[in-house]
Amino acid sequence: MRAIISYLIKFLIGGDKAGELSSLVGYTNDANKFSRYRVVIIPSPFFRDEVYGTERSMPQLPLNEVEGVPLLFGSPKMEWYDDIWVVHADILASAYFLLTRYEEIRKRNIRDEHGRFPGKESLPYKAGFIHRPIVDEYGRLLRRWLRQAHVQSAVEPEPQIQKIWLTHDVDAPFYCRTFRNLLRETLKGTGLRNAWKMYNGPLADDPFYTFPKLLQLDNSLINSVGSKRCESLFFFKSSGSSMKDKPQYRLNSRDMQELFLLCKTENGTIGLHSSYDAGKTPSLIAHEKELLEKHTGTPIMYNRHHYLSSREPEDLDWLEKTGITDDFTMGYADIAGFRLGTCRSVQWINPENRRISPLRLHPLTVMDCSLNESDYMGLQYEEALAYVLQLSERVATANGELILLWHNDIVATNGIKTNTSVDWHHKLFAAIIEELKKV
Ligand SMILES: [Zn+2]
Repeated sequence: MRAIISYLIKFLIGGDKAGELSSLVGYTNDANKFSRYRVVIIPSPFFRDEVYGTERSMPQLPLNEVEGVPLLFGSPKMEWYDDIWVVHADILASAYFLLTRYEEIRKRNIRDEHGRFPGKESLPYKAGFIHRPIVDEYGRLLRRWLRQAHVQSAVEPEPQIQKIWLTHDVDAPFYCRTFRNLLRETLKGTGLRNAWKMYNGPLADDPFYTFPKLLQLDNSLINSVGSKRCESLFFFKSSGSSMKDKPQYRLNSRDMQELFLLCKTENGTIGLHSSYDAGKTPSLIAHEKELLEKHTGTPIMYNRHHYLSSREPEDLDWLEKTGITDDFTMGYADIAGFRLGTCRSVQWINPENRRISPLRLHPLTVMDCSLNESDYMGLQYEEALAYVLQLSERVATANGELILLWHNDIVATNGIKTNTSVDWHHKLFAAIIEELKKV
């Protein structure tokens, strides 16, 4: 546990000085050891062997608050012990609970039809803080407590979004480019002539081929804020045989090869969109990664699961085993916000065996359809824009990463029915990009 506690303290403090400052924070209830530190956090029973993994380890609603921040464990009591600031708010167990998805291993029987733990069942949603990265708020409190204990170097960084990831999951790259599509359109009444035009015309005329438009928007933001602060990412499926993995696209087709080339020339990084099948059977990820590498000629380091359907916390182990270094799945489909309680990238900690992995999790801030779908958030255009901007302000305050997911087919603007019920996603994505140019 010592390595995890040390990692958590450093993660909360954040910034270049985290290593040096972390030695000034203790996690002990042994008063004889207090004098080694400037701030001491008193452990709640959460990590005790007889509590961890049992019903007693679950936070009780309504939650306490510490200086306005919801607290999962411990109490808001704080006091001086000589010149040491002693805090009874167990922000380390609280952060661990959120960062590791501990709740999901305690509630194995609560999953939606895709095997996902639903956001609306989560503690952050039920306790009303899914829109706040409270782990990062704990970090702010910890830095303030250090300053209060005369550690002036625990400075507060200027609010700024550290990184914007503009990400696009490619579930359906084309609308009508296969013989099957042609047949579908002809039978649907599009007319053979029009269907043939889409099937056989230039790729750029295909309604779902919005990639040039997306890359143009992405690159306009990259040019404005710099390539260190913004990156464009495209996640491609390479396999999967379930209904939910349809349409399957052939990676070696001429159209797909043209698309990969476009990504490469326009600086869109390619990542793996692990299939719905792989969500159920994570051992399939290795083969899917291999296939994508073969057909793109690029090493694949990044992953996001299709349907965000990485199921159990320990399934992430399979990503690490295959050599994926960074995962972008960790958001809830039914509610946009901070699933892991943070908007900063964090090393994955397995709550079952309490191991810190080199795999880095980049928490998804918002997925397009979460905003408007009636069984998700059901927002109108103006409300959706306001909500995303509110989340982005929180990210700036926390010096975090803003991770947006807009699908290529959802931004189709030519009247083709996509898998969502509204037609304003292109306008919304463009409006967000414009706003982000000011940050
Ligand atoms: Zn997908």
